[in-house]
Amino acid sequence: MCGIVGYVGNKTACPILLNGLHRLEYRGYDSAGVAIIGADNELKIYKCKGKVDELENFIADKDTEGTVGIAHTRWATHGAPNNINAHPHLSQSGQIAMIHNGIIENFRVLKEALDKEGFDFRSSTDSEVLVNLIEHIRNVNGCPLEDAVRVALKRAVGAYAIAIIEKGNPNRIIAAKQSSPMAIGLGEPGEYYLSSDAASIIEYTKDFVYINDGEMAVLEKGKPLQVFSLDNEPVAFSTARLDLSISQLEKGGYEHFMLKEINEQPKTIIDCTRGRISPETLEITLNGVANNIDRFLNARRIIFVACGTSWHAALIGEHLFEDICRIPVEVEYASEFRYRNPVIFPDDVVIAVSQSGETADTLAAIELARKSGAFVYGINNVIGSSIARATDSGTYIHVGPEIGVASTKAFTGQVTVMTMMALMIAKRKGTVSDEYYREVSAALLKLPELIEETLKLDGEIAEMAKIFTYARNFIYLGRGYNYPTALEGALKLKEISYVHAEGYPAAEMKHGAIALIDAEMPSVAIVTPDSTYEKTLSNVEEVKARGGKIISVMAKGDELVRRISDFTIEVPVTTECLMPIVVSVPLQLLAYHIAVNKGRNVDQPRNLAKSVTVE
Ligand code: GLU
Repeated sequence: MCGIVGYVGNKTACPILLNGLHRLEYRGYDSAGVAIIGADNELKIYKCKGKVDELENFIADKDTEGTVGIAHTRWATHGAPNNINAHPHLSQSGQIAMIHNGIIENFRVLKEALDKEGFDFRSSTDSEVLVNLIEHIRNVNGCPLEDAVRVALKRAVGAYAIAIIEKGNPNRIIAAKQSSPMAIGLGEPGEYYLSSDAASIIEYTKDFVYINDGEMAVLEKGKPLQVFSLDNEPVAFSTARLDLSISQLEKGGYEHFMLKEINEQPKTIIDCTRGRISPETLEITLNGVANNIDRFLNARRIIFVACGTSWHAALIGEHLFEDICRIPVEVEYASEFRYRNPVIFPDDVVIAVSQSGETADTLAAIELARKSGAFVYGINNVIGSSIARATDSGTYIHVGPEIGVASTKAFTGQVTVMTMMALMIAKRKGTVSDEYYREVSAALLKLPELIEETLKLDGEIAEMAKIFTYARNFIYLGRGYNYPTALEGALKLKEISYVHAEGYPAAEMKHGAIALIDAEMPSVAIVTPDSTYEKTLSNVEEVKARGGKIISVMAKGDELVRRISDFTIEVPVTTECLMPIVVSVPLQLLAYHIAVNKGRNVDQPRNLAKSVTVE
């Protein structure tokens, strides 16, 4: 995953690089490093294990002067997270420094060949092989560095966003990408920034060039940007403007980004529905759906492809599209779908769901779907992301930058978009009554108010979390629309508190998992009034009868549920298909408080990175 950042211009590079790295830390934080060329034309490299703060301390008393530099925050794929494997990597001669996001899949073969040429490797990374391959090609061909980069990249298989600087050349960065994100920021004429994520350098520029896969850019101080194909053909490019404010990237008084993002949800739902649901007529208009309505109306099937939290949102999407639109739906893990030779019909609609819009497996699934002629629709958050560009059409969730590694507001935004899509399609298909359409549409507009009310439970949930901080396992139970909510609640707890938790369809318990129940195993049961209410209630009774502790997420004032529960989280009720959005808020808070009590790094949990741009 990792984050890369670069700068070339007249300013001192190091503070810009460090600032960018801090903002990119959500992408990985195993180690960090920086390479700068000073006025003496020498290459200075500093890198160390750990977070960007550690790098910052490490270089505080070092010479970091220079106006060109590259920096990296790593999420290790090849080689342990240690000082040596940290990027930037130097070529054997020490002339070329490179940072890399991605995986060079054929690095072993390349490494063997370079071994024979007398190259020694200091690290265990795939990345070091690439920088040495570039050096080798330059040595053999006696060509300029950019030609060696092109030739080397034609031999590399896999994913990369790379940035390279060279000793003796304080004016230039060479960058290239394939399947990993990269934005080139335009500063003053002849001044360039580079980052894995445009948002991370938004205080320096709002104008960006996004080069395509298989392209290479030369960022040279004082000169116009040049973009080439790997065949050395000049490539035309355009500039896009990103309107984002710094405050959206900061914690705004909250202790953690995750808590800020949980609390932002009343606003993010408003942003997500704004201009899309008319408060007067309750009419829903999503341009991506409206412009392609026939593809949806004629869909043989809808296939969702997604990973992680987005996959949970897609399970709710399955329920919505089958329930409301009567279209058969399949929900696939993108990582499985892409490798199992799936049957995809040209009249299928494939919906790719990803917060970042950069998820590598989801991108690969999109490619597969497009080859089969299916119509591919994206549900993403990050404007201009790779998935947004690779799909035929799509809808942004517009929830603003999500920085906490555990997804919260993106999940509720995804479900909101899916609900709007399903209603729009169902109306055109005639599978929904006008009354129901208006009921759900109005409920979507009211949702921010209900979330606001639910957020007031924070203090109560924090108290409850104290009791459960030392539980070693949790079960989350739900049915129907709230079965995916149970999965998502369990995932939140696992990822930020490192406590084992399993989401289960409540009725499935008796087919095995109920054997786990004892007084030590709390169950978080979602028992809100819906079409499976009574059934879920019975399932919860079954758990209780075996000595399990029950924390119920339930409708405010429901006496029946209160009676069977040990602890209650009482939420306001809305229409059934929107309950997952309301219910997920206290589950996010519960996970958050347990993680804080355990002293976990909530925004940067161990082993994780936010945007999974490697397979
Ligand atoms: N494959 C490289 C490594 O393990 C880069 C990983 C990344 O994208 O962070 O160092």
